[in-house]
Amino acid sequence: MDGHGVTRRRLLELGGGVTAASLALAAGPAAALVQSRGGARAIGQRMPQGAELPATPPRRKRADSVGFAIVGLGGYALNQMMPRFAEAGRAHIAAIVSGNADKLARVGDAYGIPQNARYSYETFGNIASDRRVDAVYIVLPSGLHADWTVRAFAAGKHVFCEKPMALSSAECERMIAASRRANRKLMIAYRSHFEPHNLQAMELMAQSAVGRTRLLRTEQSYRMSPTSPRENWRVNRALAGGGPLEDLGIYGLQAALYLAREMPESISASTFRPAGDPRFSEIFASVASQWRFPSGAVAQLATSYDSAGTNFVHVRGTDGALIMDPATNYSGQRMRLEGRDRREIEAGDPLVQFAGQLDHLADAIRDGARIRTPGEMGLRDLRLIEAIYASAASGRTVGLKPDGTVRS
Ligand code: NAD
Repeated sequence: MDGHGVTRRRLLELGGGVTAASLALAAGPAAALVQSRGGARAIGQRMPQGAELPATPPRRKRADSVGFAIVGLGGYALNQMMPRFAEAGRAHIAAIVSGNADKLARVGDAYGIPQNARYSYETFGNIASDRRVDAVYIVLPSGLHADWTVRAFAAGKHVFCEKPMALSSAECERMIAASRRANRKLMIAYRSHFEPHNLQAMELMAQSAVGRTRLLRTEQSYRMSPTSPRENWRVNRALAGGGPLEDLGIYGLQAALYLAREMPESISASTFRPAGDPRFSEIFASVASQWRFPSGAVAQLATSYDSAGTNFVHVRGTDGALIMDPATNYSGQRMRLEGRDRREIEAGDPLVQFAGQLDHLADAIRDGARIRTPGEMGLRDLRLIEAIYASAASGRTVGLKPDGTVRS
């Protein structure tokens, strides 16, 4: 195993929650999302609604293409990311991992995955000796990212981990430490860093296209259908943390940072959770925060699972404004500059963001290119999320150190 020897810690990390997962799988598709004792576990779920499988498997294009194992065959993996491997130049699907045997067979057949490259959560550890797999893509519920990232590093693989990186800064630090121990790359799937409108917005802000930044506003929301923590991991605290902020609001948080181009020095926040609504028995319905930056700019960020859908980012400076609406969707981005240089900006096809991430990690693995969205960025964001919750819980403004941790 990559010259580090098989330590006791590595064996434990590789093993994960095997017994619990197999017990839950045996309980069938209606099995609970979270094991009652011992916290969150990876548990097989049924095929997501509306999942479309390819008629012909995507082809591997280059000899040095990076082989990915996809861990978790849910809605985002099956409907967004896996089809996009067809557009990647240097990345291909080498293996799949699922707790549902039927889904494993159907997806494996459609994507042309050999039988012996189809893993269950129980057999995942065997991936360590599978030379076809270079990187593991963790696309499980967010509360499982940390444990499965650590297991993938223990297997000697690179990791591409979905957002949010994890549910606490302590988990992020554990993931970064595991990456260093294994001497393997860790990339967080912040797709907006590969989306042409967001990239151009970063460029415009670097050129002071709206003058000196004064106000930022971001809003990401949708209205969630009736559900409960037993049925839906997104409203289950162990798997989703506080809810909309980690899932949707993180796009606004990211945009505020890459457009302001500085870290906030203080945050004040509030959360709201209606009584008697099973959707919000464990998570917040809405989270709003106000940030002050050292330059004097201020930002307002709001996110909700209980208001009509929106996804916008506004930046207002001394000389104009940059309006992105929708700002960070899968597709359909619109962006305009107002002020001295008023114009609509058509930056390119947002769809390139998906395969762009895959090729970026492949370049980092093969050529040592610097990762644009490393684990340290995910850690920074979880520190800010913790600061938002700390402010909301105390009802006070919290001061921040430059790395995003709360000043005591
Ligand atoms: P999903 O519910 O559609 O799929 C989750 C999958 O994880 C399930 O199908 C199942 O295969 C597996 N799983 C294993 N253990 C589970 C458990 N205990 N409970 C529920 N599922 C379990 O969710 P999704 O929308 O595919 O989200 C997965 C991850 O991808 C999340 O971290 C989410 O934040 C991220 N995501 C990112 C984007 C993006 O634009 N980057 C979009 C959607 C989701």
